[in-house]
Amino acid sequence: MYSAPDHTAPLDAAENALINDSYQQLKQSANSGRTHPLQWRTGQLEALKALLEQHQDALIQALHEDLGKSVAEAWTSEIGFLLSDIKHTLKHLKRWSKPRKVRTPLIAQPGTSYILPEPLGVVLVIGAWNYPLQLTLAPCIAALAAGNCVLLKPSELAPATSALIKKLIPRYLDPSAIAVIEGGEAPTTALLRCHWDHIFYTGGEAVAKIVMRAASEYLTPVTLELGGKSPCLVERSADIEVTARRIVWGKWMNAGQTCIAPDYIIVEECIKEALLNALKRALVEQYGKQPLRSNDYGTIINASHLARVRSYLGDHTIYHGGVIDEQRHKMAPTIVLDPNLDSALMQNEIFGPILPVITTTQISESLAFVRDRPKPLALYLFTNDATLTHRVINTMSAGSVCVNDVMLFMANPALPFGGVGSSGMGQYHGSAGFDRLSHLKSVMVRKFWLDVALRYAPFSARKLAMLKKLL
Ligand code: NAD
Repeated sequence: MYSAPDHTAPLDAAENALINDSYQQLKQSANSGRTHPLQWRTGQLEALKALLEQHQDALIQALHEDLGKSVAEAWTSEIGFLLSDIKHTLKHLKRWSKPRKVRTPLIAQPGTSYILPEPLGVVLVIGAWNYPLQLTLAPCIAALAAGNCVLLKPSELAPATSALIKKLIPRYLDPSAIAVIEGGEAPTTALLRCHWDHIFYTGGEAVAKIVMRAASEYLTPVTLELGGKSPCLVERSADIEVTARRIVWGKWMNAGQTCIAPDYIIVEECIKEALLNALKRALVEQYGKQPLRSNDYGTIINASHLARVRSYLGDHTIYHGGVIDEQRHKMAPTIVLDPNLDSALMQNEIFGPILPVITTTQISESLAFVRDRPKPLALYLFTNDATLTHRVINTMSAGSVCVNDVMLFMANPALPFGGVGSSGMGQYHGSAGFDRLSHLKSVMVRKFWLDVALRYAPFSARKLAMLKKLL
């Protein structure tokens, strides 16, 4: 069993020097331009692919130690996810990197105009603990594809995965352009004092504010991948059995510790009983009668997060589950019916295995409920009603909307991923990540041979009239 170093201790001189040296090295590499050629970028992506393929077993073991992930879950939501992102990126990178030709107006003729993606420089990636491999390496894929140098700061709360990232990355990737610094608050605070070209942060709102404050010192652009409560609306025309199976799959994957997990269900009264029964059936189908014994059911990251999630139960009536294994940091899939809306359970993102079910008499009430709250990272709707589907997709704001499923949109690298409002800023995955971590430089190239005097002073009413036509 891996034993974690103390990440709360202040940094000593050697640790400060390591951060400073790593930063200087990356800065130098970025300035040298050596990471710009397409060949370097594809080489790094191929090397990252080899790392993931050749160390699958060790990575699966680390994810199991940190979060009790099953082999299937570790593969699909972390390793396989990253491999598919790399494959997609390698397939399209040449096209994404090409100059994007745009129209040139008459006033600028003869001339050509295009948009040229260029690397930003050095990107700091601060990862989160719930998908500790994916959330550290997916931004890294985008950063490398865009030709940047990267400093990776994996989450200290998933120490086995963090240590493996630290060990393997320098063996596979160009060490002069990609560095890893482990640790929590102290090293991250030191890293945030450096002048980055972009900071890519995944995690909660409180630290996001610290990141943004630090970024403002140099006016550094940030991407903030945050969370919040993602609602799941179930309308009377939905196929109840399929709905329940899919909700159970998404809600209790990684024991509910997923930023886009359905946080709560809002269901119409007339189908509430049927949905609850179907959820119970689906839970038994997927995790058995004693889910805490299922090898497919994960653990809560640590004792303090277990205490946080447990505190959300308060004095609510538990409809299903609620069993806790304190020693192994496990809480069974738990359903709470009609919770008090002012309770901590309904005021905070749950980020754990409790699923509150709220009842409304009709769907318009459910939509109003969601609209009254902060814009979610993901919004889920289960229905067979095409008019309702159209209405929700076109009038409700959310980072992503998914109809008749949960979380699966993440499996499509062609869909950008990110929040809106308090659920985050900036998107990535596939070409969105490439664009996010590139500067889309505007270029106009003119010729000398035609120099229309129309735009030069002195101006006259006639000149102005002609200019208006040309612009
Ligand atoms: P966190 O915000 O506490 O930590 C995230 C990162 O910040 C870690 O790398 C950590 O070392 C660093 N950090 C912690 N304290 C710090 C400090 N004082 N100064 C500087 N850096 C510090 O993580 P969390 O809040 O437990 O993460 C859970 C949240 O993240 C949830 O809200 C979840 O929805 C969200 N999340 C979002 C996504 C997404 O992709 N949108 C993915 C996973 C998690």
